[in-house]
Amino acid sequence: MAHQWQGLIAEYAERLPLSDSDVPVTLGEGGTPLVYSQPLSEATGAKVFIKVEGMNPTGSFKDRGMTMAMTKVASSETRMVACASTGNTSASAAAYATRAGLGCAVVLPAGKIAAGKLAQAIVHGAQLVAIDGNFDDCLRIVRELTQTYPVALVNSVNPYRLQGQKTAAFEVVDALGDAPDIHVLPVGNAGNISAYWMGYCEYAGRMSAASMEETVRNREPRATRVPQMWGIQADGAAPFVKGEPVEFPETVATAIRIGNPASWDLACAARDDSNGLITAVTDAQILQAQSLLAAETGVFCEPASAASVAGLLMLAEAGKVPPDATIVCTVTGHGLKDTATALGERRVDPDVIAPNLDAVSSALGLS
Ligand SMILES: *Cc1c(COP(=O)(O)O)cnc(C)c1O
Repeated sequence: MAHQWQGLIAEYAERLPLSDSDVPVTLGEGGTPLVYSQPLSEATGAKVFIKVEGMNPTGSFKDRGMTMAMTKVASSETRMVACASTGNTSASAAAYATRAGLGCAVVLPAGKIAAGKLAQAIVHGAQLVAIDGNFDDCLRIVRELTQTYPVALVNSVNPYRLQGQKTAAFEVVDALGDAPDIHVLPVGNAGNISAYWMGYCEYAGRMSAASMEETVRNREPRATRVPQMWGIQADGAAPFVKGEPVEFPETVATAIRIGNPASWDLACAARDDSNGLITAVTDAQILQAQSLLAAETGVFCEPASAASVAGLLMLAEAGKVPPDATIVCTVTGHGLKDTATALGERRVDPDVIAPNLDAVSSALGLS
């Protein structure tokens, strides 16, 4: 019988910090496609694969961390969770809290959330609070809130989030047979780059800065090597490139509009220990990469996700991509979450014509 994916906790249980009382809170997350991109391979001289994280249940990789974090909260006394969010964390938290029967509060930067993501938090029944501030302010407040009240924090500073997210690296190795040479991904709050690095290290039989020892001890290595980690930020929100926090981050890629990343030290360790890099691209490069990936490879991602592809193309042009390297680009979230940005100036309504074959075939240039 064909294997039906059981969700990443069931699939990778032996490498996750679970106890006997934990009952997985799952919506079938993980097991996302790794799609070979001929156009990107030709453009870079490498073998480029896209890890399509928009295929997770709520349309972003946040579900990987949320299944773990919510499983741990569900087996505790706490009945409510809270998060700060640029959109996808709240969408995911709202869905998984519902699944777990927990209350969910989300604190958002007013006016900076894509409509699709906001819709998700609302339909799943989360309590929304919008503040006059940016994501970094939201996270500061939620940290204080969860220290003062019996509410669990489910942002990626919750270590179980990264434990769940590391499974994306496992899936890449399981699909390719070994680690790629280079892994490229967008960097915002910097949890994901830290989690991927942890996953790659653990599959190669070693600890990383983020690892919990129990998940590494006595495990068979499944990879012979680890990749270089290439992190991509947006120019207007590039604290790692500047070497210090950015007070007023600005970018069209709202999911990485973060000036003071929570996982600063872990991300620097991932960059340095992997011999990798963190660089930045412009909003124009991001939107162009988003459009290219949709039109040429057939993958529709949100702007923040396209930062990885934009960065890869920029570094290839600068001669930084070794010929024939195997490269995996994570595209972190689904394009349907923010169609307004993707369409830009483009018209949505086609001209209306007569309902007959002649009119349609002539409009299509066939007759
Ligand atoms: C959360 C998010 C990111 C940034 O990930 P970090 O772990 O915060 O670096 C990038 N893209 C999308 C779509 C996201 O939702």
